[in-house]
Amino acid sequence: MADLLTRAFAADGSIRVVGVITTDSTKEARDRHKLSNVATVAMGRTMAAGLLLASAMKRENSRVNLRIRSSGPLEGLLVDAGLDGTVRGYVTNPAAEVPPKENGQPNVSAGLGAGYLYMLRDIGYGRPYNSTVELINGEVSDDIAYYLSNSEQTASCIGLDVVMGEDGVTQAGGLLVQVLPKAHRDEALSKLVYEQAGKLQKFPELLGQGKTMPEIMEALLGHLGLEMQPETTPLRFHCPCTRDRLMGAMRMFGTDELQDMIEKDDGAEAKCDICNEVYNISAQDLSELIKTMDAEAIAARS
Ligand SMILES: [Zn+2]
Repeated sequence: MADLLTRAFAADGSIRVVGVITTDSTKEARDRHKLSNVATVAMGRTMAAGLLLASAMKRENSRVNLRIRSSGPLEGLLVDAGLDGTVRGYVTNPAAEVPPKENGQPNVSAGLGAGYLYMLRDIGYGRPYNSTVELINGEVSDDIAYYLSNSEQTASCIGLDVVMGEDGVTQAGGLLVQVLPKAHRDEALSKLVYEQAGKLQKFPELLGQGKTMPEIMEALLGHLGLEMQPETTPLRFHCPCTRDRLMGAMRMFGTDELQDMIEKDDGAEAKCDICNEVYNISAQDLSELIKTMDAEAIAARS
């Protein structure tokens, strides 16, 4: 089952329901960054949250950035997710591990510890919106729910999880229930949405059983009268970094240090911090870059 975003409406179109299956994207994040178990779950839950939040945006190139800075061994993470279904990110301390919970699942709360969640929404034009909330318990789901209720005043509840098996990630995904902006003054509807938080506690269990998103939605929220939307969005871990972009970033070393890389190492390895992709830059490429930089310096002086 490929990663997919599924949408539905409920309560005669006043509530939006969005679900994501992100198993493959979470596996890729784990492989790329060699994430520990607790880092995988923290990252996977935040990736699912980012995709769910981005799905409510309008313009094609809209993106959501979620950054956590915290005192636990993981120290925090970054996720960048787009309405186009792409997601990428990293954990500050990817190898950090903490003892699992009694049920054997990773203890994300202990891994992240106390800290802050920063949210940036780039709606595709003008200045991005920023906001910050303190982490409630570092489990990510409750922290995101708290952010939505307090910073956005949108009645919402959210379920996020990554189920780990012996060989790594078994299932990953998320489910968001939200009052639509047009109905957000309707207190009965808001109450109805908050009441679904109890239902969403069963989300990890259904996810772990390998059910599809429409099956999960129907099992948990069918009583709200779901209208499934036919359009789905494929999801994938994707970083737009390129060799050229990384080469450009190497300018910051300055020509002397670049010359040093040619002489001592016969080239350089440039790594993208966000997706961990490594680009090999040859000595010849570095010489070309130095020539360009020298030419620019002369042009700037004249
Ligand atoms: Zn990258």
